[in-house]
Amino acid sequence: MYDYLIVGSGLFGAVFAHEAKKAGRSVLVIERRENVGGNIYCEEMEGINVHKYGAHIFHTSYKDVWEYVNQFVEFNNYVNSPVANYKGELYNLPFNMNTFAKLWGIVTPDEAAAKIAEQRTAIKGEPQNLEEQAISLVGTDIYTKLIKGYTEKQWGRSCTELPAFIIKRLPVRYTFDNNYFNDRYQGIPVGGYNKLIDALLDGIEVRTGVDYNECRAEYEGMAKKVVYTGPVDAYFDYKLGQLEYRGLRFETERLEEVNHQGVAVMNYTEREVPYTRVIEHKHFEFGTQPVTYVTKEYPADWQPGEEAYYPVNNERNQNLYQQYAELAAKEEKVIFGGRLAEYKYYDMDDVIKSALACAGRELQ
Ligand SMILES: Cc1cc2nc3c(=O)[nH]c(=O)nc-3n(C[C@H](O)[C@H](O)[C@H](O)COP(=O)(O)OP(=O)(O)OC[C@H]3O[C@@H](n4cnc5c(N)ncnc54)[C@H](O)[C@@H]3O)c2cc1C
Repeated sequence: MYDYLIVGSGLFGAVFAHEAKKAGRSVLVIERRENVGGNIYCEEMEGINVHKYGAHIFHTSYKDVWEYVNQFVEFNNYVNSPVANYKGELYNLPFNMNTFAKLWGIVTPDEAAAKIAEQRTAIKGEPQNLEEQAISLVGTDIYTKLIKGYTEKQWGRSCTELPAFIIKRLPVRYTFDNNYFNDRYQGIPVGGYNKLIDALLDGIEVRTGVDYNECRAEYEGMAKKVVYTGPVDAYFDYKLGQLEYRGLRFETERLEEVNHQGVAVMNYTEREVPYTRVIEHKHFEFGTQPVTYVTKEYPADWQPGEEAYYPVNNERNQNLYQQYAELAAKEEKVIFGGRLAEYKYYDMDDVIKSALACAGRELQ
């Protein structure tokens, strides 16, 4: 009998498995997909790591998590500096002095701040919808060119029909700094994310192509405890109803070009272009291959059975999740962890932190 059966080989499962093995426990990992790694899995195409389930950039301010991952793999010095494409006009993101200089031909931070202050006054009184909220925070030009179309594609609705509370803050930087993240540490594993997962799972028995919820009888009794990182509603056979997700659709193309767009992430901020982003994967790792792979990312409605990307944290889903969480708490021999089991958006560093904390409690 194993000490732990770990359901799912994403970051949560892999970190827990690694820690359990290190603590001398026996572990078996089962994974529904044919490959390990969960959402950070990459498919290698002609030497380019294609981020199969969406572009992933590792960034953290937790020193302990940074040191933890660096034990397994070296990180390169990639800094995420996406570019917005609005009808062929290119703007640096996040909103910073480079963006403002291009938008208005201004030179100093004071001039940029004055422009924004002047345009914010277009909204008088309490903002009634997302459009008014965004304009009241950053003014009309940034809203029109860089926020409106992108947000409308993401939500499938016009900004005037979306509630104001969706956008609470829109950070603007009065420096010439295109680094998207504010975190202390950032990068992509040298050789790709699979290296990180493979190192975490080194020496651990893994069975792929096994869905726990479909062959539970077979695995029941195989381990003293289960660490379950799949969807919490699926564990309970959806008996209280299904939790909803936002979907994404990816279209990947091989291009006979060395360099297609000159940046890893280009956001398309006009509504008329149906995708929100184009990812050129080789730039995450400074690739010099003679070809390139690009992925168009389309927001999509989610249907049960499809890949679950982002939880929809509205009242219905939060209430339903709470009820499932109560059932989960009664399962004494099962630990529920990770983004699907906790129905929560987790960045990679947070999920690692959470798995380490869970292992710390469990493996004393
Ligand atoms: C589009 C997108 C982009 C993202 N970009 C970033 C980013 O740039 N930076 C960042 O820090 N984070 C990013 N994230 C978040 C990141 O993907 C997560 O933090 C991380 O993948 C969570 O790991 P996990 O182990 O909880 O879940 P997952 O990676 O989903 O792993 C769960 C695993 O369990 C398996 N499984 C599920 N059910 C079963 C079952 N019944 N039986 C067996 N196996 C099962 C699944 O197949 C999967 O492999 C992004 C997320 C998305 C959706």
